[in-house]
Amino acid sequence: MKTDIKEIFGCQVFDEKKMKDYLAKDTFRELEKTIQEGKPLNPKIAEAVAHAMKEWALENGATHFTHWFQPLTGVTAEKHDSFLNIGKNGSIDMEFSGKELVRGEPDASSFPSGGLRATFEARGYTAWDPTSFVFIKNKVLCIPTAFYSYTGHALDKKIPLLRSMDAINKQALRVLRLFGHDEVTSVKTTVGPEQEYFLVDKKYYEQRKDLIYTGRTLFGAPCPKGQEMEDHYFGTIKDRVQEFMQDLNRQLWKLGIEAKTEHNEVAPAQFELAPVFSTTNIANDHNQLTMEMIQRIAKEHGLVALLHEKPFDGINGSGKHNNWSISTNTGINLLDPGNTPQDNAQFLLFLAAVIKAVDEHQDILRLSVATAANDHRLGANEAPPAIISIFLGEQLTEVLKAIENDEPIEESGTEVMRIGVDILPKIKKDATDRNRTSPFAFTGNKFEFRMLGSSNSIAGCNIMLNTAVADVLEGFADQLEGAENFEDALHQLIKTTIKEHKRIIFNGNGYDDSWIAEAEKRGLLNLRTTPDALPYSIKPENIALFKRQGVLSEEEARSRYEITMEEYTKIVNIEALTMVNMARKQIMPAVMGYSKTLTETALSKKELGIETEYEEANVKEISAYLTEAMTACSTLDEKIKTLHSITEFDKAAYYVRDEILPAMDALRAPCDKLEEICDDEIWPFPTYGKLLFGI
Ligand code: ADP
Ligand code: MG
Repeated sequence: MKTDIKEIFGCQVFDEKKMKDYLAKDTFRELEKTIQEGKPLNPKIAEAVAHAMKEWALENGATHFTHWFQPLTGVTAEKHDSFLNIGKNGSIDMEFSGKELVRGEPDASSFPSGGLRATFEARGYTAWDPTSFVFIKNKVLCIPTAFYSYTGHALDKKIPLLRSMDAINKQALRVLRLFGHDEVTSVKTTVGPEQEYFLVDKKYYEQRKDLIYTGRTLFGAPCPKGQEMEDHYFGTIKDRVQEFMQDLNRQLWKLGIEAKTEHNEVAPAQFELAPVFSTTNIANDHNQLTMEMIQRIAKEHGLVALLHEKPFDGINGSGKHNNWSISTNTGINLLDPGNTPQDNAQFLLFLAAVIKAVDEHQDILRLSVATAANDHRLGANEAPPAIISIFLGEQLTEVLKAIENDEPIEESGTEVMRIGVDILPKIKKDATDRNRTSPFAFTGNKFEFRMLGSSNSIAGCNIMLNTAVADVLEGFADQLEGAENFEDALHQLIKTTIKEHKRIIFNGNGYDDSWIAEAEKRGLLNLRTTPDALPYSIKPENIALFKRQGVLSEEEARSRYEITMEEYTKIVNIEALTMVNMARKQIMPAVMGYSKTLTETALSKKELGIETEYEEANVKEISAYLTEAMTACSTLDEKIKTLHSITEFDKAAYYVRDEILPAMDALRAPCDKLEEICDDEIWPFPTYGKLLFGI
C-alpha cells in the first residue's frame, strides 16, 4: 500500500493540474476562466473538455459516467451511463460528448419536487457546475451538477447554495469597496464541517430492524456503562477502527478531500472526522462524498456507520459543526480581527453583520437544521439547545460593550475606543469555548454553527446563513454608501447594531434550564420541534428575503416547505411502523415465552413444596409491563391508521408531533423495562452493551 499522501492526493480528481496536462493551452485557459468566474461552460470548448475527461477517465479505469447531483432528499443521486458505443458496423467506441458533459436529462419524476414539476412534465435537467471538479468513484466518472426543472426551478440543494454565495459576494464586495479594497474581485464563504458518526459491528446491526429501517434504535435499555467515565473522548483508537480510518482517509485523499483530524468522540463508539475547510460549494460536495465513503468503507471492515443524529437514547447524539467564514480572493479572512485600525474596523463591521443576521433571522437558521432526527438532539438537554444564541467570548463581548457605551476598553487603557482609529486588543480564542454548549460560537476567526445534524446536507444551513448575512450587508452598504463622513457613519452603525442585537449574545451555559427562561425574557425564539420551525420558511418576510437575495423564488420556498414537512412525517411513520413490528413479532413473543418458562418453573417448584416467591414476583412484574406494552402497541397502531387518513401534509406533521411520537415513547418505556428484567439470553436482538462496546 502506498502511504505517500502527496502521490495519492487527488489522483481520482480531474483537477487543474490534470486539466492542464490533458487540454490544449487555449482550451485550458478558457476553462480556467469559467471556473474562476463561476460561469457556465462555453459550448465551444465543451467538446474538447469532454474528450479530455474521457481519456483521463478511461486511463484510470472508469467505464461509466454520471451526472452527480443533490436532489431535495438531501443525499446524492446518480444514474450511470456507459461510455460504450457500438457503431453500425459493429465497431466499439468509447464516447463522451460535450453535450453529455454539459447537460443531462434524468427522469426526475421520482425525486421530491413539492409540486414544482407537474408529473406530466417529468423532465428535469442537470448542468455541470464547473467550479466543482469531476472525479472518479467506483469506476464511474462523476460530474457534479445542479438539478433544475423544465420550468427552470431549482430541484436541488446546490443551486440555492450557489445563489446564496453570489448574494453574499455581491454585498460583501460593496462593503469592501467602501474600505478601499478595489483589488478584491470576489468574496466566498468558506466551510469546514466536522462530521460525527457512530460505528457498530455489522453482525449486531443486521439483527436490529430499527437500525436497518430507521438508522436509530427504537428500543434499548441503558447498559451499565455509558459515557459517564469520559474515557472515550480523544482516547486511544482501537486497532480495528484505526484500520478503518486509515482506509477512509486514503479514499478521501484520492478524491481530493483534505481529511485532517480524526478522533474518538464523547460517546462510546462515536467518532469524528474533520477536513480542512474549503469554499462552501466544494465543502458541500466533499461532505456528501465523505458521508458516503464513511458508510462504504465501514462495511469493508465489517462495521456499519450510523450517521443518524440520535442512534442511542441516553447517549450523546451526533452533529456536524459547520465552521463558517468569509474570504476574499486575495486571501483575507473577513472574520479575522486583523492588525491595523482599518482591518479592525472592517472586522467589526462584518462581525456586527453576522450578529444582526443571526438575531434577525433566528427562524431560518433554526429551520435549516430541523429534521425528525435532529429533534432528538436540539432542546433535548444535550448538544446545543433549540434556541439560537451567539457565543463571542468574554473578551470580544467586553469590546462590543465598550463601543456601545463609548467607554474605554479596559485592557487597552485609557481612551474611548474609536473604530477605524484604534487597535483592538488582541482577541484570543476563548478557552470557555470548550464548553460546546453554544449553538453559534465565534472561534477566533470563524463562526461555528453547531446545530446541524450529522446526517444533514450542509447546504441548507449555509444557504440560510449566507442569505441572512448578505441581506444585512446590503442594508449596511446602502447606509454607508450614502454617508457624508464614512468613519462617523461606520462607528454609529456598529454601535447601533450592537445595541439593537446584543440580546442574541450569550456566553453562559446553553444547557442550563435558567437559560431557557432568560432567552424567553430576551424574546428569542425557542422552536423545539421540526413542525414548530418549518412553517417559518413560508412567512411572508422570509419569502420576501429569499426573493430579494435571489436565492429562492416563492414557488421554490413553498415546495421546500412541503417536502421537508412531508419528510418529517414519512420518517416518523416508518419508525412507528417498525416499532409496532418489533414489539409484536420480536419483543412480545420472546417475553411471553420467558414468562411461560418462569411460570412452569414456579408450578413445578410448588408441587415439590419449594418457595416460589421470586418467580411469582418476577412473573407478575413481567406481566404488568407486557400488558402495558400491548396496550401501548395497539394505541400506536390505531394512531398510525389515523395518520394515514390525514391528507394535508401540515396537519399530518402536527399529528406526528402531538400523537405519534408520544405514543412511541409510551411503547418504548415498558419494553425497555422488560429488557432490564428479562434474561439476556431470550432478548430477541442485541442490546446497547453489544452495540456500543462490541467493536
Ligand atoms: P476545533 O473546532 O476542534 O478547535 P479547528 O478550530 O482547528 O478545530 O477547526 C475546525 C474546523 O474549522 C476545521 O475543519 C477547519 O478547517 C475549519 N476552519 C478553520 N478555519 C476556517 C475558516 N476560515 N473558514 C471555515 N472553516 C474553517
Ligand atoms: Mg469544533
